[in-house]
Parts: sequence; C-alpha cells; structure tokens
Amino acid sequence: MPEPYETLEWLALARGDIDRVAERRRDDAWLSEAWADPATRVLVVERGKALVQGDEKPRLLLLPPAAAPQGERYLLGVDDDGVAYFAVAAPLPVVEGARAAGLRHVGAVLDDRDSGLLTHAVALEHWHSTHRYCPSCGGPTELAAAGHVRVCPADGSEHFPRVDPAVIMLLRDERDRVLLARGPAWPENRRSILAGFVEPGESLEQAVAREVREEVGLPVRDVRYLGSQPWPLPRSLMVGFFARTDGDLPLRTDPEEILDAAWYTREELRAAVEAGEVLLPPPLSIAAQLIKRWYGGPLPGTSDF
Ligand SMILES: [Zn+2]
Repeated sequence: MPEPYETLEWLALARGDIDRVAERRRDDAWLSEAWADPATRVLVVERGKALVQGDEKPRLLLLPPAAAPQGERYLLGVDDDGVAYFAVAAPLPVVEGARAAGLRHVGAVLDDRDSGLLTHAVALEHWHSTHRYCPSCGGPTELAAAGHVRVCPADGSEHFPRVDPAVIMLLRDERDRVLLARGPAWPENRRSILAGFVEPGESLEQAVAREVREEVGLPVRDVRYLGSQPWPLPRSLMVGFFARTDGDLPLRTDPEEILDAAWYTREELRAAVEAGEVLLPPPLSIAAQLIKRWYGGPLPGTSDF
C-alpha cells in the first residue's frame, strides 16, 4: 500500500488521457477540417447520458461526424494517434445494441479515454444548458471557442464554464479511527466522510475546518491534500483531504446536514459492513478512495478497484 499521504492513485473520473488542445478551440479552419475528417469521433450527450455498448466492459458508442445528429458541438480533444473527439448535445440516436448510461453507472468501468471523454462532455453539456443568458444584461448568449466559452453578442462579455469546488475530508483521531456520518438524503445505512462546498473568499483548508466545525462541532489540524476529481453531477470538483481531530471531544452534529455520526476502528467498520449496518459509498466516489486509503486495502462490501 502507498504511504498514507501519497496522492490517490486511482480516481474514476480523473483518468482522462487525451490532449484537450485548447489552442485549437478558436482555430476555425482546423475545426472545420477536423469535422470533415471521417476518422473524427463524436460522442452524443443528452442530459448527462451517452450511448454505451457491451455489458462486461462497456465502451462509449462514438460516431463519425457524418452520422452525428445536429446540435451544439464541443471540441473534447485529440488523442495520440491524431484522432479528434467532439461532443454533440442532441437527443441520443437509436442504435441497436447500445443503451443510454451516465457517469454514475459507467464512470468507474469505462477505460481511461472513455471515462475522460464522458466526464468532459457531460460537464460542458450541463453548463451550456443552464447558462444560456448573459449574467450582465440578460440577453441570450452564443457558443464560442468550440464549446468552452459563451459570448454575449449585445455587450461582448465572455462567460466560462463554471466549476464548483467542494472539499471532502476523512477525519481521523489519535487512535486512527475514522469518522463516518449519514446525510439526510442518503440511501438507507449509507455512511461516508464529511464534505461541503467552498465558500467565496475561502481557501480549501479553511473550508475543511469550517465544514467539520459546522457539521460535527470538532476542531481540525494537520489537513493534508490527497487528490481531486471532477464530479460533474452536475458541476463540482471534489478536493480530498485527510485531517486529524480529537476523538474524545463530544460530537455536536448539525441536524440539517447530518443525521448521525460515529467513530469506527477498522475492525468495527468491517463488522458493521458485513452486518449490513453500514453501506459504504461506491468506488466511483473520491470518498470511497479516501476511506480505502485509511483502511489500508480493499474495502469490505465493495468490489476492488
Ligand atoms: Zn450581455
């Protein structure tokens, strides 16, 4: 196993491996040429879903441009072989043997390229669908920079895709127990680590300390960064940490955010999972990967990733 503070080696939605070629986004001649190339591949996205094929090892269904439906077009990047990838926001075509799937279902089992393409495409699609009007003047905006900017033709203002950073932190005490909590809207028995959105004018470390204080009333120290992954469900970036606290202090939970919270040793966690009293988060989440790092090996009750 890696050292406790080594950054996480595998995060389901942080595996994209193609070049995003940002320098091509405003190069209209290159974009036209890439779209005219039958080797180019297009991912159709509709409300966070795309078509996949295969049960055991699903892969994205990618179309040549000539077969793609009409819709807003986003340049996703170019792979090592020079193949360009676009996304098109449009109703998913009916293709025999293919089915619609979103990141929650296939984000962890797609290969690195496909996981990255889908993560990028659904993040852009959601942003475009919810940012059609100019925040300055209220007029309609237009897509620019191959889908990475929206421009207001009335006042010329440019608007960039929005990402909301959120901190997620695994709290440990001096006996190396982990604090797991249950949120109000979570599935029955789901337990996970604490998380919350970063506020304006706040550092990531300050957000960790504030959220822990608000949710369970504990002070934190020794905040260490472990990794991050995009979470475009719909538009977060999850930034993961380990932090220390004093496990003998009383927990004061905020009932709006936390139904209950408790400390677990590794043995207690294993027993609780095996008894069905605790359902850990899915491997797709950075929460599961942080808990796995603390646990020191594959988590009970989950398939090993
Ligand atoms: Zn405007």
